[in-house]
Amino acid sequence: MITLKSFVGGEWQEGSGEPAVLVNPSTEEPLAQTSTEGVDFAGAVRHAREVGGPALRAMTLGERASLLKAMSKALLEHRDELLDMSMRNGGNTKSDAKFDVDGAGGALAAYAHLGKGLGDSKIMRDGDGVSLARDGSWWGQHVLLPKEGVAVLINAFNFPAWGFGEKAACALLAGVPVIVKPATSTALVTWRMVEVLDQAGILPPGSVQLVAGSPGDLLSHLREQDVLAFTGSADTGLYLRSRDDILSRNVTVNIEADSLNSAILAPGVPADSDTYGLFLKDLFREMTQKAGQKCTAIRRIFVAEEDMERVAGDLVGRLADVTVGNTADPEVRMGPVSTARQLADNRAGIEALAAAGTVATGGSDPLDGVGAPEGRGYYVRPTLIRVDDARSSDVVHTHEVFGPVASIMPYDGTPDDAAELVARGQGSLVASAYGDDPDWAGGMIAGLGAWNGRLYLGSSGVAGSAMGSGAAFPYLLHGGPGRAGNGEELGGLSGVRLYQRRCALQGDPAVLDRILGGTESE
Ligand code: NAP
Repeated sequence: MITLKSFVGGEWQEGSGEPAVLVNPSTEEPLAQTSTEGVDFAGAVRHAREVGGPALRAMTLGERASLLKAMSKALLEHRDELLDMSMRNGGNTKSDAKFDVDGAGGALAAYAHLGKGLGDSKIMRDGDGVSLARDGSWWGQHVLLPKEGVAVLINAFNFPAWGFGEKAACALLAGVPVIVKPATSTALVTWRMVEVLDQAGILPPGSVQLVAGSPGDLLSHLREQDVLAFTGSADTGLYLRSRDDILSRNVTVNIEADSLNSAILAPGVPADSDTYGLFLKDLFREMTQKAGQKCTAIRRIFVAEEDMERVAGDLVGRLADVTVGNTADPEVRMGPVSTARQLADNRAGIEALAAAGTVATGGSDPLDGVGAPEGRGYYVRPTLIRVDDARSSDVVHTHEVFGPVASIMPYDGTPDDAAELVARGQGSLVASAYGDDPDWAGGMIAGLGAWNGRLYLGSSGVAGSAMGSGAAFPYLLHGGPGRAGNGEELGGLSGVRLYQRRCALQGDPAVLDRILGGTESE
């Protein structure tokens, strides 16, 4: 069994306490163990501040972009090994594993590309400058500077690779060193990624450190120039953002949390249309990819009353074809959920939703996975709950079952009704609306946009190219209002802003141009 070490202070440190055991959720076979007891967290923060930060700030934005490119390349060279670890420790099918591992490399490569365009400067201009005097001799310009601290990146169990890649890309491009802390249960992939990067010799010392397990007293060392970027449950997010030490030091906090994402079908979409085909394909993918353990997965489906029977029937038919089991078996299309706790939460959640409606397919009964030892593994049936009155219960709008589970409900077909129901989720990452009437789609934007970080408009024109509402792209915002955390990640260069300080410069435009480069004030 592998013993994971934490990479802090420039060395690999092994914890001394009772280890946590990481298992293969397909079989419950132990894979690795880890402890962080006795790991020098204060030293890790100091190392980042005193060694990693200065090294990164000495680099130009273009040089930091080259670092991201080298990281992406080094990880790509170990892709097969990382995919294998992702399958074994995450319960992922190969395709699920690619979504995570390739997503990490893709995010690093995308930010390498963006950063390359920023060239030789160490300071980024923020928008256009402004003349402060009639004759233009007194000039103002906002600039963005790296925070002089450390970014602690705490990730959820479902995306140990992508969560690290997308956060680290933004922080490192900004010039801020990172300490990444994956969820303990699926830490294997992040641990190996950091080991690969360390062995490749491409990281400036102190720029990337790893906590392979519990964060101990790490957060108590954070100060004014530091960033805490968290992804996980709303409860943990609330605890972290309201800690006295985080509040009293005004540590910058970004939260990416729970979300009850919605999919809405326009009334009257014909069953044989491309739009309906896309809608069904997306519902199926979002419910079953990574066994529904995606923060962006569809949890609530809204269709017109007269479409309920047809859509529920078609979706149940598709879900019946899913082979659930051990992801080592190539016939398996959906793996288990990642931990015993997730299995228990899924079963309890399905029962809570079922109490508000009827189980169209699936349910909370135990399931033996194909190719898994009898009674072993954390398997959940793909489950659709039918709720005939969307306003009869709050639970379908507020209880995120983090697995292959969704509810289907009627709405009156209008954007206003859809917006009112979607808002009952208290803020989500994404909503998708499927229909070919641009007025109907346009009507969705105001109401849904206020409560969702991203809107995905499915129609016949994009049926061949749209990739599903669950995919987060480096160039587009990832994050949502309200219970989704109110955070913002990615979105191109705006994702880098989290790790920067904005400063207003005032001075002679010629001097500013000389310092910043470019011809903004000419
Ligand atoms: P979680 O239990 O909140 O854990 C998330 C992370 O926080 C883990 O690394 C965990 O470490 C750490 N953590 C827990 N308690 C902590 C504490 N007291 N101090 C410091 N760190 C602490 O969530 P999860 O079960 O891993 O993830 C599932 C949730 O994440 C779902 O609700 C899902 O919606 C959400 N999610 C959101 C997004 C998004 O982008 N919005 C993406 C993915 C997942 P340990 O594992 O060591 O306890």
